[in-house]
Amino acid sequence: MTTELYLRKDEDRRLRAGHVWVYSNEIDTERSPLRQFSPGDPVDVISSRGQWLGQGYINPNTLIAARIVSRDRAHPLDRSLLVHRLNIALALRQRLYPEPCYRLVYGESDGLPGLVVDRYGDVLVAQLTTAGMDRHRDDILAALDKVIAPRAIILRNDVAARATEGLPQSVEVALGDAPTELQVREGDATFVVPAQDGQKTGWFFDQAANRDRLLRYVAGRTVLDVFSYAGGWGIRAAQAGATAITCVDSSERALGWVTANAERNGVGDRVATVKGDAFEVLRELRTAGTRFDVVVLDPPAFIKRRKDGKEGQLAYRRLNDIALTLLNRDGLLVSASCSYHLAAEDLLRTVQSAARANDRMLQCLEAGQQGPDHPIHPAIPETAYLKAFYLRVLPTL
Ligand code: SAH
Repeated sequence: MTTELYLRKDEDRRLRAGHVWVYSNEIDTERSPLRQFSPGDPVDVISSRGQWLGQGYINPNTLIAARIVSRDRAHPLDRSLLVHRLNIALALRQRLYPEPCYRLVYGESDGLPGLVVDRYGDVLVAQLTTAGMDRHRDDILAALDKVIAPRAIILRNDVAARATEGLPQSVEVALGDAPTELQVREGDATFVVPAQDGQKTGWFFDQAANRDRLLRYVAGRTVLDVFSYAGGWGIRAAQAGATAITCVDSSERALGWVTANAERNGVGDRVATVKGDAFEVLRELRTAGTRFDVVVLDPPAFIKRRKDGKEGQLAYRRLNDIALTLLNRDGLLVSASCSYHLAAEDLLRTVQSAARANDRMLQCLEAGQQGPDHPIHPAIPETAYLKAFYLRVLPTL
């Protein structure tokens, strides 16, 4: 069976610049008909002029048809390449994090497209999001075992991307005994989240550095943590001296973990929860005249696909609009977005226009992105998605 995948004329440019994706319409299907491939098959990616560009894997049924994993002919995707790349990924995290709690592998940015691994101490939670990676499941487990020697590996293969790839949804303990809970150490706080049915893999590691950044603004102040999940922002703010924290989420279970985590960290007396749709809860707070010194907005992605752009941007606009009206004079708004399709400057412009509409002036004090355990690959814009602005909110000067 041939593994050669020929590109059409000039479709090698993005790959030469460092990107690793081949879209289905970039393939020369006369020279390399897609029907000869099965999802997950290894391929050699070749330019229209016959130059070998790299090797990776293909899924003939998806828009992103192939991903390059290696640009060295001697090193195909196998167990030994996995071990090598895991060691490189681990070296970065070990240098940066005092505790073994972080995203260990962030897909393309760590040279392992289709693989995400989060580390909760001696428990790993992995996601195999493409057919090409799924085919190497046993190699991945063996490589993780060799590099980390974890107590357990959980596969959270219940992500939407797998459906696109034609892969089944499942959650399983692939190695060791299933812990019922995952522990995360972040700053001076310890969080506990459920092991197999939390959101994402259980914790939002991508915001850890941004939560650190919040701490110097909160001593002696009241905080509203909107879309709180298990209380990451709010509980860390409480530890840093915030006087009263209100966590809002639509998930009853998430708020249960907020309460448990607040107790565990000795700040239970200062952390309250409100269950409900954030937009409604914020409107009710406004009507009741409740005000805060700091409001954190960390919503789920309102723009999941490009075509949701307009509607999603409106949702960010409405959310930030209400939040601004809940702030005390000289307050701080932390406004985050994890929508890849909303550029940082568009988020900032959205909040600014909400501020004008409410006769407020903004001072942007800091901006944050996803933490360094989610490295951005400069040639792969899709690897950069998170932004957070720290905005001082004043009456218009
Ligand atoms: N701030 C969290 C992560 C937020 S994830 C952290 O730092 O860990 C998004 C959260 O928003 C989820 O917990 C989800 O339950 C909640 N959510 C989604 N839609 C919501 C809505 N309309 N109103 C309130 N909460 C919502």
